[in-house]
Amino acid sequence: MRIVLLGPPGAGKGTQASKIAANLGAKHLATGDILRAEAAAGTTLGKSAKSYMDRGDLVPDKVIIGMIRSRLSDGGGMVLDGFPRTVAQAQALDQELTKAKAPLDLALYLDVDREELVSRLSNRAVCARCSKPFKLDDATERPKDVCDNCGGELQVREDDRPQAVRHRLRVYEEQTLPVLGYYKSSGRVAEVDGVGSTEEVGERLEAAIKQQSPV
Ligand code: ADP
Ligand code: ZN
Repeated sequence: MRIVLLGPPGAGKGTQASKIAANLGAKHLATGDILRAEAAAGTTLGKSAKSYMDRGDLVPDKVIIGMIRSRLSDGGGMVLDGFPRTVAQAQALDQELTKAKAPLDLALYLDVDREELVSRLSNRAVCARCSKPFKLDDATERPKDVCDNCGGELQVREDDRPQAVRHRLRVYEEQTLPVLGYYKSSGRVAEVDGVGSTEEVGERLEAAIKQQSPV
């Protein structure tokens, strides 16, 4: 299956996308993670992307589309997380997938209200190595500040600082919300309530996927 996971920053896309991908035996592609890895490695792409990311702005479509194109699976299953974030990106993705005769099966929309998002984003630290999120309160209570998943270092993302959080939510509403309309107009969206425990939300997503492709 080829799935796009849509939703605002802080909705839990990363956590859920990696679980769905593992369950389906599909590839998990997270543009935010790819960009952060490029920035950490100091590549030309990473350096030019970093200033956009730190401010909470979108990296230009041309850069993102080029970056994702080379990573799309060859007709196999995949879960896209953090992409597409603009209608132009969604159109480019459809074009590529049509060319590969491997169209998108489903756009899953994780719905979380704004107040909850602000609270989640301003209270989180993430593992620098595997991106696992932690509540800041928990994170600071940890004796060594390391990730319980991989031992990586926990950091507060530059774009999780209050000013950048507000900006990211505005950018999301202006540039990314129209992507939901784009997929709705072609009847490819399933909406899922993103408030609840990781397990609860995961079960809702699983049910939505099953409904789309009953076995
Ligand atoms: P979140 O969903 O929590 O905002 P991500 O890790 O998905 O975080 O993305 C972090 C940043 O990376 C974004 O704010 C943006 O600057 C950049 N980015 C990631 N994916 C895209 C994309 N598809 N188009 C443009 N910029 C992107
Ligand atoms: Zn980790």
